[in-house]
Amino acid sequence: ELERLQRGWNAPIYAFFNPDPQIEYFNGRRAHVFSCVAKSCKAKGKSPRCVNRFVDTADASSTSNLRKHAKNCWSEVVVKGADETKDVKLARAIVAKSGLANASITAMFERAKGKGVVTYSHTQHTKTETKAEIVRWVAENMRPFKIVKDRGFQSLMKTGRPGYYIPSPATVSRDVKKVFVQCRQRIAKMLQVSQLSNNK
Ligand SMILES: [Zn+2]
Repeated sequence: ELERLQRGWNAPIYAFFNPDPQIEYFNGRRAHVFSCVAKSCKAKGKSPRCVNRFVDTADASSTSNLRKHAKNCWSEVVVKGADETKDVKLARAIVAKSGLANASITAMFERAKGKGVVTYSHTQHTKTETKAEIVRWVAENMRPFKIVKDRGFQSLMKTGRPGYYIPSPATVSRDVKKVFVQCRQRIAKMLQVSQLSNNK
């Protein structure tokens, strides 16, 4: 059950705590005990590093106590930086370098945000996806259709997966025209709609 819950913990705030909380019972009530990963935790009390979250309440998925703790240990700015990555794995990787000063962690969050870090699927494209990606690439970057026959491109695409489908220049040309026609129709429709509403 813990595993099922953990999959829902996608908010970057979890990056400031051990990904595997302890399960403890307080007066018979089950709680997840999140442990702060800060090198020097600033919290006080009996078990300062720990943030308990009871499983049986409406707050079972509330992150407000985690947030409060993290802001105290890392600062408001760092927590905000983590939030902005919208990616708990990325945030965790950055927080893991916790030997760093808050300022450098903030800078790393800032850079990650600017780059809009692209992640890639482990699954290979389907034929249709490959065709769509190539249409987009060729159109956006104004590549000639015959680039798909380029030796270097073919080598990059097919090394390690020699069966990888690459469409012919004729197919790419046909697909680009098809997408162009569809796009033109869509824009025409949008213009009509906006004209209609302007005439009202
Ligand atoms: Zn702490």
